[in-house]
Amino acid sequence: MQTWSAPQVPSLPVRGPQVSIHDTSSGGPVATTPADVARLYVCGITPYDATHMGHAATYVAFDLLNRAWRAAGHDVHYVQNVTDVDDPLLERATKVGVAWEELALRETQLFRDDMEALRVLPPRDYIGAVESIPLVIDLVEKLRATGSVYTVDTDLYFSVTSDPAFGDVSGWDRDQMLAIFGERGGDPEREGKKDPLDCVVWRGERDGEPAWDSPFGPGRPGWHIECAAIALKHLGTGFDVQGGGSDLIFPHHEMSAGEVQVAERGDAFAKAYAHAGMVAYDGEKMSKSKGNLVFVSALRMSEVDPMAIRLTLLRQHYRSDWEWTDEQLWSSVDTLASWRDTITAGAGAPAQPVVEAVLAALANDLDAPTALAAVDTWFTTTAGGDTTDPNAAETIRALLDASLGLAL
Ligand code: ZN
Repeated sequence: MQTWSAPQVPSLPVRGPQVSIHDTSSGGPVATTPADVARLYVCGITPYDATHMGHAATYVAFDLLNRAWRAAGHDVHYVQNVTDVDDPLLERATKVGVAWEELALRETQLFRDDMEALRVLPPRDYIGAVESIPLVIDLVEKLRATGSVYTVDTDLYFSVTSDPAFGDVSGWDRDQMLAIFGERGGDPEREGKKDPLDCVVWRGERDGEPAWDSPFGPGRPGWHIECAAIALKHLGTGFDVQGGGSDLIFPHHEMSAGEVQVAERGDAFAKAYAHAGMVAYDGEKMSKSKGNLVFVSALRMSEVDPMAIRLTLLRQHYRSDWEWTDEQLWSSVDTLASWRDTITAGAGAPAQPVVEAVLAALANDLDAPTALAAVDTWFTTTAGGDTTDPNAAETIRALLDASLGLAL
């Protein structure tokens, strides 16, 4: 699938430090140790509605990881999927009376435009579920060969207990898993399953739903195995970081990891699992069911500078749950205006310590608020009349662009 265009990333005068990130699986920070090429998979959208701030916060967070790795001297192989066939998309398409393919194309394009406006570096491989069906079929076949898949009516289920490491990604116990599984696309009540937590890998054809031929009958992929198959094909096992919002910890990331680990006879799916916090608005988590969504595209269409949206997101640590407010956005608009005024001068306070502070903060679990505090101090000192560094402005401009994705 076509990705979006990459912004120019200026080169920096110094190399960034090794990047550490909070790993949900081990519950603490881990030093990422990529080979020359760092490998990142971030779960993509189901394109049935526009990108809201919760999505944007997640993709901007992992964009910081991408940039921190580049600053540390790595090439980055970034893969993202698009779940361009799944229940929510089909349901929405039926409800609004549009062909599901058309809805998926339209919303995927809107997402690309949003990502481009926010200066998120594009994935090298941007892969749709529909185009990945042969990969899914291969992975289901591999699982069948291990005896970890069984049939209920025309659907195929993955037996979670076949993965000895099941539960290690989330660290959740069965009660926690059972409490949330049904809310997040699972079907714990389905009769005929061996374990209520088992998940669908192939959904047999239903009337009025799209279906593709397979050795196990016509149908379509389950969501977890879609990401499992795409990540396995494009990154292999043991890639550096699996990322997504914290609502994907369970079941999505647990199941994708389990499916690959069983198919690959115990090889770990990813080395670390990193998760971005949830964004609230009007007192509740931003979600389609609550209807309290702030859309990136709607703000863009009302002439809001996408850099102000990005700065607002960066003011929060990516792992925290927080609430979006319009005041924060307008404050970012003012900050950018003031920064742009100050930076036209050319000279400023010494830039080198700011470069080092920003790169160090981002390499330490993508700590953008701390990075921005160093940037704020530089602007205050410079606006206060410190012009000891004649080339400071260009360095700070390049630093903001390269490491934080903020173009002044
Ligand atoms: Zn995924």
